[in-house]
Amino acid sequence: ERELAPPIMVNARVAPLGSRLVLALLEDRTREWRVEAVRRDFVANVSHELKTPVGAIKILAEAVEDAAEDPEAVRRFASRMRIESDRLTELVQQVIELSRLQAVDLVDSRSEVRIDQVVAEAVDTSALDASRRSISVVVRGDTGLSVSGDPRLVSAAVTNLVSNAVAYSGENTSVVVETKGLERTVEISVVDQGIGIPSDEIERIFERFYRVDPARHRSTGGTGLGLSIVKHVAATHGGDVRVWSVPGQGSTFTLVLPRHTPQTSHLTTTQDTR
Ligand code: ADP
Repeated sequence: ERELAPPIMVNARVAPLGSRLVLALLEDRTREWRVEAVRRDFVANVSHELKTPVGAIKILAEAVEDAAEDPEAVRRFASRMRIESDRLTELVQQVIELSRLQAVDLVDSRSEVRIDQVVAEAVDTSALDASRRSISVVVRGDTGLSVSGDPRLVSAAVTNLVSNAVAYSGENTSVVVETKGLERTVEISVVDQGIGIPSDEIERIFERFYRVDPARHRSTGGTGLGLSIVKHVAATHGGDVRVWSVPGQGSTFTLVLPRHTPQTSHLTTTQDTR
């Protein structure tokens, strides 16, 4: 007969205190395995997502070589190469942001982050895309607010929300960025009159690489990483991100971050603030 006891029997034989320890160790290991699985998934996803634009650029380059005699075709292929390389750049940037986010030491990153400046930069980043489609971007609400956090990450989060609002809006609409200071938090809301998000998709949009049916989008751009960055920034800063949306009418994303108070400023003395 078989003498090999299943591993659980080993645990059952140790003293109560010991078994609790074993359980704790097991739990710890499962968390490690889960983290490892998420990491492996992420690497697989990133590799897949990188291969798409790289493959497209290669094919387009070959097409340009073959079409050297036809300037019109060369121009067409070149412009598609530019679109694909923009996509690649955005993807690489977002992957870098995401890994920075995972490596960030929170205690060391509690700088004073000025929201007026962050919002102005975010609006600037989307200005060209907005003006091309006659979308007006309006900033209103409380001024002079600061949150405590990592300047680059807070900036990345707000930039992603504003650029999504513009990207998923139609011509001649407006996007409003509204800032509100509460006692302990600052709320940054980005309101659009765009295509909206079906209610059964809302939960999934914060997942990495998740995109609501790309066919409904004006462009094929986008990486599906933007909102996962926003969610991580909110989570790592002890904040929150909320969304309301009505398909066909628009969406509102609200990022809630801890308000910077003088008491927290001592943590920032060695940090550069902006
Ligand atoms: P993407 O790079 O595709 O924009 P995100 O993670 O930023 O990736 O967003 C995930 C998906 O959520 C998008 O593909 C889009 O379908 C949807 N989405 C995000 N923001 C908005 C918005 N303001 N209006 C409508 N849909 C949005």
